[in-house]
Amino acid sequence: MTITTAADVFALLPSDPKERRARAAVVYRCQSKGCVLAEVYQAPGFTLIHQPEYYVSPNLDANTSTPAAREKRTDGKGTWEAQTYYASEAANPVFYCRHVFHLTIPQERLERDARRGAGVVRLSKDDAR
Ligand SMILES: [Zn+2]
Repeated sequence: MTITTAADVFALLPSDPKERRARAAVVYRCQSKGCVLAEVYQAPGFTLIHQPEYYVSPNLDANTSTPAAREKRTDGKGTWEAQTYYASEAANPVFYCRHVFHLTIPQERLERDARRGAGVVRLSKDDAR
């Protein structure tokens, strides 16, 4: 069997979030409350990013996304589904939680943090590109 998709690779990691995050090269958390914005896993040849589901208030949602996107990727009540992808698939990853909306960090920074196994990193608006 050839493992190809990021979701397939993610499925091999422990399902318990705490146990899984202990193996992450980086766990990005929001500065104010410490919500997990993204877990970054590294193995030879790839960097995997997992972003847990996040909630967006109805007003913000209406102003920042399309009905088609909400139809496809939310539960209809403002919670957006989790995403798992290879770092190489995203030009610059975009992170969300209840306190941080649309925080983008440069791809190079993410790769650098992953390589040095930065562990828990708190992000604020100041880290945005
Ligand atoms: Zn937060």
